[in-house]
Amino acid sequence: MMGRFLEDPKEIENEVVTKTCGGIIVLPRGHYLHQAASLSPAVMQKRAATACIQCRICSEMCPRFLVGQGFETHKVMRAFAGAQGFEIDAAQAMMCCECGVCELFACPMGISPRRVNVFLKNKFRQDNVQYQGPRNVNPGQRSFREFRKVPTPRLAAK
Ligand code: SF4
Ligand code: SF4
Repeated sequence: MMGRFLEDPKEIENEVVTKTCGGIIVLPRGHYLHQAASLSPAVMQKRAATACIQCRICSEMCPRFLVGQGFETHKVMRAFAGAQGFEIDAAQAMMCCECGVCELFACPMGISPRRVNVFLKNKFRQDNVQYQGPRNVNPGQRSFREFRKVPTPRLAAK
């Protein structure tokens, strides 16, 4: 759910196994995950603008939100889509830990706040933009946290 995607033979050639590698998964070209991982930023933006229904389930199930941080990834989607009048500090995408819950479990529309956040994080790093807002953790603030855990069998079924 959190892995990096490598397709370019040169990138694969330069890759090494380190102690943080959990595993290597080889996927056939055209696999759902391959298609999803190779979406261009322009397509991701179009999907954010047209398919995101702003249901906010991605935020409600996000572990960062559930530990009490102010990060609401549906708002990043809204900003990324270019919605007028809903501007936020998109740099809060830097708080995304790329767990993949929003992408592979929460979103009913099959779109991926995780990939949008990864794209924005890389862009902000290149531009030396830092998230300056609060990062306070306060699990008690979300009383429903206990009921939002993702059951592994349901995740696997999805
Ligand atoms: S769960 Fe999907 S459709 Fe709902 S707000 Fe998040 S990205 Fe948009
Ligand atoms: S990938 Fe990022 S935005 Fe999505 S649920 Fe995980 S921490 Fe939240």
